[in-house]
Amino acid sequence: MKKVTIVVPFLAALALGTGCQTAEPAKPVKAAAASHAAVGYTDTPMLPGNKWHVHDPNRPQPRVVTPGTFSTQAKAGKPPSDAIVLIAPNDLSKWKDAKGEAPKWKLVDDYAVVNGGDITTKAEFSDFQLHVEFATPNPPKGDSQGRGNSGVFLLGLYEFQVLDSYNNRTYADGGAASMYGQYPPLVNASLPPGQWQVYDIVFTAPHFKDGKLETPAYVTALHNGVLVQNHRAYLGPTNHRVLATETPHAEKGPIRIQDHGNPTRYRNMWIRPLLKSDESE
Ligand code: MG
Repeated sequence: MKKVTIVVPFLAALALGTGCQTAEPAKPVKAAAASHAAVGYTDTPMLPGNKWHVHDPNRPQPRVVTPGTFSTQAKAGKPPSDAIVLIAPNDLSKWKDAKGEAPKWKLVDDYAVVNGGDITTKAEFSDFQLHVEFATPNPPKGDSQGRGNSGVFLLGLYEFQVLDSYNNRTYADGGAASMYGQYPPLVNASLPPGQWQVYDIVFTAPHFKDGKLETPAYVTALHNGVLVQNHRAYLGPTNHRVLATETPHAEKGPIRIQDHGNPTRYRNMWIRPLLKSDESE
């Protein structure tokens, strides 16, 4: 790309500064024109690892996304404009069951109720932002792992636990927002059973090179707006009563939601795959 050299006139720069007094007042029209042109600099140091100057005017602008709206207990919010909606009112068309058939989950109002087995997205993903809204059964039944248990499996392999963890003791690495069998959440931000709760999960798929793990699967997550996992690495695909280890596998996969025998509800679930073109280079 052709480099554009932006020259900011000295007086105009002063006029645009922080109120410095100058001997000659700058002319407002020219100052405004200079301000408009001066969107960056090419006489600044180069940033490491790419081809851009500090404040480079030629660096691509970020893609515009219209933000969504927040949900309330009564009503689900709107997803951002570029999200892929996975669960919408009366719509599980993005999912299949273990046999590859349409899910048998019950569709009620604007939510879906766990029923008849796990469901898996037809599409596969690698690195992404995932928004999940769930409500565990009310009145609650059972205790420990038997209360409101479900789970969101990232890449179909890494369980991010869904559980009723409101006044319900279980092993810490198996509570709501735990990386199942590996790490508890930083805090327990659970709401009471029956209330809509939100997970916002940022996931980075593991990378393998020459048959070895190069970088692990990372997750950062908020539970009801509270940070619960901070760039934490999964030890490997999650499981019950075993020490997880990582062995080479596909670096993309579906989202799977667990049927653990409890009628947990899901609504307004969406995903934003991280696009390579968004990683500004
Ligand atoms: Mg589970």
